[in-house]
Amino acid sequence: MAILKEKVTDIHHWTDKTFSFKTTRDKGFRFKNGEFAMIGLEIEGRPLLRAYSVVSPNHEDHLEFLSIKVPNGPLTSKLQHIKLDDEILVNSKPTGTLVCDYLLDGRNLFLFSTGTGLAPFMSIIRDPETYEKFNKVILTHTVRTVKELAYYDVLNNLNNDEIYSQVTQNKFIYFNTVTREKWERTGRITEWIESGKLWESVGVDTFDPKIDRVMICGSEDMTFDLKEIFEKLGSIEGSTKVQGGLVIEKAFAEK
Ligand SMILES: Cc1cc2nc3c(=O)[nH]c(=O)nc-3n(C[C@H](O)[C@H](O)[C@H](O)COP(=O)(O)OP(=O)(O)OC[C@H]3O[C@@H](n4cnc5c(N)ncnc54)[C@H](O)[C@@H]3O)c2cc1C
Repeated sequence: MAILKEKVTDIHHWTDKTFSFKTTRDKGFRFKNGEFAMIGLEIEGRPLLRAYSVVSPNHEDHLEFLSIKVPNGPLTSKLQHIKLDDEILVNSKPTGTLVCDYLLDGRNLFLFSTGTGLAPFMSIIRDPETYEKFNKVILTHTVRTVKELAYYDVLNNLNNDEIYSQVTQNKFIYFNTVTREKWERTGRITEWIESGKLWESVGVDTFDPKIDRVMICGSEDMTFDLKEIFEKLGSIEGSTKVQGGLVIEKAFAEK
């Protein structure tokens, strides 16, 4: 396993709590859309790495990441101050369970995210294979404030994008909710599912565990609640060894 050295080529601060950045990409760095890599900075002569899902799809020649800013976080208290041309360390062996291959083929694919849990889905929704496998791809993103709806414009316009409209073929649906501010849709995603309002809002009849598939990425609480809801409905968790109806990754561990 090697640690690659990439250069920062672009930085975007969404809020005082989140930012995203692009880096160069070593030609040998290969990953499946939805996977994460250990990335970080060299601090006091030693690598300080954390798990980060790759935002950019694997056919693009750069890498992109979406990051939290934890005020006293060992890595992000420094990472949030990166500048163009700074060096980012990237472990050359990505991994993860949020990969379409670990799901059975099906009708609709639901991608449920909160906060930076959106990151792995940004690559999955721009992967042509996702749309070969599923009729509709529904991405939900729940955040506290409207400004935290990272990539809002990209997601809203994906079906009309010059390049990605050919990939999504109008099969992509973006649905967001905000929990701590007034917005078109408020509340936790669990409430939208349990009331049945989600299916209606995204234009699907209902959720059928036999043919509909689920990926979950977010806080510990959110992943736990959604796993319970979908397992009760009849979805069976898949893994790197056995395909299933549901795959999960915690976007971070809570202390
Ligand atoms: C599989 C996996 C994928 C991940 N992908 C991403 C990603 O794409 N983007 C990202 O920003 N982070 C991601 N994380 C979290 C990331 O690895 C670090 O925890 C984060 O960058 C903070 O690092 P730190 O050293 O500053 O603080 P840490 O000591 O790692 O974390 C301090 C505390 O901050 C909180 N925290 C950490 N990460 C987050 C977060 N993303 N959102 C909200 N609160 C958080 C938790 O309470 C944590 O205990 C992922 C974690 C895992 C396990």
